[in-house]
Amino acid sequence: MISAMPASTSPSSFPIDLRSDTVTRPTPAMRRAMAEAEVGDDVYGEDPTVNRLQARAAEIFEREAALFVPSGSMGNLLAIKTWARPGMEVICEQRSHIVNYELASMSAVAGCMPCTVAAADGILTWATIEPLIRPKGYYYAPTGLIELENTHNLHGGAVYPPAVVDEICDRAHTAGLRVHLDGARIFNAGVALGRGVAELTRMFDSVMFCLSKGLGAPVGSMLVGSRDFIDQARVGRKMLGGGMRQAGVLAAAGLVALEESPKTLHRDHENARFLAEGLAQIPGIVLDPRKVVTNIVIFEIRAEGRTAQEVCAELARRNVLCGAMGKQQVRMVTHYDVDCAGVERAISEMASLLGGPKS
Ligand SMILES: *Cc1c(COP(=O)(O)O)cnc(C)c1O
Repeated sequence: MISAMPASTSPSSFPIDLRSDTVTRPTPAMRRAMAEAEVGDDVYGEDPTVNRLQARAAEIFEREAALFVPSGSMGNLLAIKTWARPGMEVICEQRSHIVNYELASMSAVAGCMPCTVAAADGILTWATIEPLIRPKGYYYAPTGLIELENTHNLHGGAVYPPAVVDEICDRAHTAGLRVHLDGARIFNAGVALGRGVAELTRMFDSVMFCLSKGLGAPVGSMLVGSRDFIDQARVGRKMLGGGMRQAGVLAAAGLVALEESPKTLHRDHENARFLAEGLAQIPGIVLDPRKVVTNIVIFEIRAEGRTAQEVCAELARRNVLCGAMGKQQVRMVTHYDVDCAGVERAISEMASLLGGPKS
């Protein structure tokens, strides 16, 4: 007789992929919606599914308009190109995605220069931003835009306190400056704070969010803002080669992601916290689990003679995939394709690699 084994959806032969929440595959509901999507030519504005996705995103964020873009990087770049002119500076946090993971597109394509400042947990405040704003003067590159990232990827999914965001936007507007949000994971911030995304983003001049991260769509991000901003961004998108034709097959998955996925993000956060608490028990790992409030876990490897790369390579051989960030840091990201059993396996493989839990 077969004994009652606890059901596990993650046998050790099955890779646990914690490299990013971009690795999610479309759900069966997304696949169905894609197969059945009504389509048209979106460069003519005639794809009904793209139009529905854009209208729905605008409605959820309580804005005039939205634009479907192929990637979050393009969305951020379009915001910079739309708000700032070549020769201007963009104020952003030192470890922001726009500076670290988008090539040098703001310089190479938009002609702008980043003006970065390091902030604790990646959370800028008006006090850190204000001294960076250039005074008017013949010698200075004028400040063209302020950019915030919520949640902050390289700072372990840190969430902006709403009052901090509101103060930055309010003061920036008084100073005549625009503020763009890289809200790739703004729905994660919403879940962590128990607030709606419209409320969290109401003060920004433009917002980018990703359908392809924790929301699980195969492709695409959205820009939201005023009608005028979106009209300009649409022209910029075409200029970058991002005008798509029957993109309704992608937008259909995006609509499912937008409606359904925010409801289950709390599970990713619970799994991330559980993962962090387990990892924090392992000698050679430096991690404060209380800082893990969304779906990203970043920790330091402090084991004699081991680099983050070596640890990640060793884990990959044990079918646990994660990302090395520099010499000492490792990042693990939870998402709907990783369940609790998978997280347990990641912890136990790491413990066996580094030598068991702390005694
Ligand atoms: C993923 C991500 C983006 C956009 O990435 P794409 O891969 O271009 O879609 C932007 N900002 C942050 C913080 C991200 O994590």
